[in-house]
Amino acid sequence: MYVLSVDLLAVVAVVASAAWPVPADAWTPFAVLAGCAALHLHCSRWIERIRRDHSHLPHVDLCSIWIVAGAIVLPPSLAVALVVSIYAHRWWVVGRWDASRPPHRNVFTTSMMVLAALAASAVAGVTGLRDRLGAHRPEGWLDLVGLVGAGTAQWLVNTALVGAVILLTVRPRSLKDAAGSPSDNLLEAGQLALGAFVALAVASWPGFAVPMVVAAVALHRTVLIHQLELAARTDAKTGLLNAEAWHLQARVELDRTRRQPPGATVGLFMVDVDHFKDINDTHGHQIGDAVLRRIAVALGGVVRRGDALGRFGGEEFAVLLPSVERAEALAIAERMRRQVHEVVADDGEGGTVGGLTVSIGIAVWPDVAEDTLEGLLAAADAALYEAKRQGRDQVRVAGGHRRNRWLPAARSEHPGT
Ligand code: GH3
Ligand code: MG
Ligand code: MG
Repeated sequence: MYVLSVDLLAVVAVVASAAWPVPADAWTPFAVLAGCAALHLHCSRWIERIRRDHSHLPHVDLCSIWIVAGAIVLPPSLAVALVVSIYAHRWWVVGRWDASRPPHRNVFTTSMMVLAALAASAVAGVTGLRDRLGAHRPEGWLDLVGLVGAGTAQWLVNTALVGAVILLTVRPRSLKDAAGSPSDNLLEAGQLALGAFVALAVASWPGFAVPMVVAAVALHRTVLIHQLELAARTDAKTGLLNAEAWHLQARVELDRTRRQPPGATVGLFMVDVDHFKDINDTHGHQIGDAVLRRIAVALGGVVRRGDALGRFGGEEFAVLLPSVERAEALAIAERMRRQVHEVVADDGEGGTVGGLTVSIGIAVWPDVAEDTLEGLLAAADAALYEAKRQGRDQVRVAGGHRRNRWLPAARSEHPGT
């Protein structure tokens, strides 16, 4: 219903804007902007194909540069025509064979951008920016306000329309997810700023827009590299660090702690879901995956930003917490254990999966007589095994005072270690 409403609204807007008169001198900038956008899409088609293959990651498309420029300098009818031509071309180049992007999604994306462009166009019209640029009578500050306003309007409408989709489809609901990540928003803002410059250039002479194609392709390529770096570090199922990235970060953190004056500590947790096989056997692997994602969110809610939280494949998670001592590590692990009790996931048949528990093994350096990451992992793993052996849903700490003794979690006969 929501998608259809947005599509319908866009159709109404297109029809209404079609009535807008098109001055004869608007066709040249339109043709130049459409040509630049086409060249940009053509030169970056391989980038878009790779990005599409990693589409589990947020995907900001990079057409906004041309769209906002068109919205500022062109009459609304041509601004809309520019959006439609860009997305039709984009679909032809990268979306045509992609079964994961059915046609209605492309139509919806186009509709959103039509509405966003019309919002920018309205601001450029109301502030008189378009007229002044057309008449080559720049007004300095007033034009700057118009440019920023037009970009902001496009961003606001786009973010609101995309955010609503995220709120309607992604569970658990989160306004933060709906608003997009800071880096996505920075990327969008960067594109809008470039687009504003394209508008100024095009207003002086349309051909000035052409060099910006190079900047757009370069930006596109940088975004791809960043995206691939992120994908290489991320566990696709949960969004946490994958095992390799976790090891890398944990090793750096442990080395850093060991170089610090005596007294510095680091805690390593191994977290394993109890009887997870039963969840798969009862509800199927897909529900099992959804449960893993929920557990990852629950664990992430307990640690601080930047703490190494990773998935070691399967239903096993590893956490490295800098500067935590035994008592603090225990408290954090207990909080994790309790948070997992709260996890509920849909079972896909109208019911829920709950009653989940985890067992946690902790090794705190330098309490345990291990100075390598591998040694600490083995100690935490042995503590985890002990927690499992004792009946699961509990926390165990590897022995203190650099002696390999097991200490039950509830007792604290070694305060201060
Ligand atoms: P416990 O740890 O309490 O001893 O019992 P468990 O049933 O969790 O133990 P085990 O380690 O033997 O089983 C882990 C199961 O996790 C086996 C496998 O079916 C499942 N599993 C591993 N990786 C994934 C995954 O990525 N997705 C899903 N859905 N299941 C997974
Ligand atoms: Mg398990
Ligand atoms: Mg396991």
